[in-house]
Amino acid sequence: MKLIDNFNRIHEYVRISLIDKCNLNCIYCNPSNTLAKLESNKSILTYEELYRLVKILVRDLEVKKVRFTGGEPLIRKDVMKFFQMISSLKNQYGFEIGITTNGTHLLDKLDGLKKYGVERLNISLDTLKKTKFIAITGKDLFNETLSAIQKAIDLGFDSVKVNAVIIKNINDDELIKFIEYFKSYPITLRFIEYMPFTGNQWDDSKFLSWSEMKYRIEEKYSLTEIESDGKISKDFFVNESKLKIGFISSISDHFCDSCNRLRITASGQIKNCLFSNPSEVSLKSLLADKSIADDQIVRFIQSTLQSKWFKHPSADELATLNQNNMMSIGG
Ligand code: SAM
Repeated sequence: MKLIDNFNRIHEYVRISLIDKCNLNCIYCNPSNTLAKLESNKSILTYEELYRLVKILVRDLEVKKVRFTGGEPLIRKDVMKFFQMISSLKNQYGFEIGITTNGTHLLDKLDGLKKYGVERLNISLDTLKKTKFIAITGKDLFNETLSAIQKAIDLGFDSVKVNAVIIKNINDDELIKFIEYFKSYPITLRFIEYMPFTGNQWDDSKFLSWSEMKYRIEEKYSLTEIESDGKISKDFFVNESKLKIGFISSISDHFCDSCNRLRITASGQIKNCLFSNPSEVSLKSLLADKSIADDQIVRFIQSTLQSKWFKHPSADELATLNQNNMMSIGG
């Protein structure tokens, strides 16, 4: 049975946050450092609960792709044991596994992740300058991330995407430099519009739309559009290179009508949309209780999806909301 909402959107893609904490304090995401403590994960889903959840999603709800995110998923204790558990489900039900990571704890895990069937890596990197990296993230871990990206490419993962959030007067001067740096690699470079979240000081003056980014890039490089069914990212080949680029235009040109994503927070709340409130009831209480049948959990997920809105509010409205934070949602 498929996961279908009231607007006939089929949800085959679920993003699950493994942890609501991060080791970086990116200015646009976790600037205040209030969420960065790495201890006390009592209320988050255990690996056993996560395993049960993924099993229900891929076996009963025809989910085809699961992406693990955070916070920073790879700082969670014993995370490789978890990916080993998930690999047995992949062998049985054949779905795609991806991870979204800042790459700082990735290098030594790459061989294991490949072995466990994780084939899609999205790695965040907002600048190619070490000093700017420290200014944006608060940590001196630029070399770790860059080495991990390089090794992921060398190991031949099915999909390597480098994600950069573009903010005016912070890193918009690096659009061309990013392409220059990665143009000989068979990866996708994705430029993400800066989104407003609680406490991240978003305002119009720092915002650069995808069309402005593309205009600037086309002054130097010619691009060929790649047709795609899902419109989450507007993708292009950079002509005469191995590189693809994509623009995530969540703000200037939302792609809600083709949204096929459901998010689950680290504590097990369902988020129908990146910008909506999480479900009041957490999946944790259901997943932890062995006397509750999987069917009941299926029904709960389906009924929660029915309250998904058709599209999220405008950027200005979002900037005034007070409940959203990428760290706890899982980006
Ligand atoms: N720690 C992981 C990482 O850095 O990729 C996963 C979590 S992070 C919240 C997921 C993605 O959300 C990253 O690519 C990050 O750049 C993006 N992100 C966070 N805050 C954002 C914002 N205000 N606007 C646009 N993208 C944002």
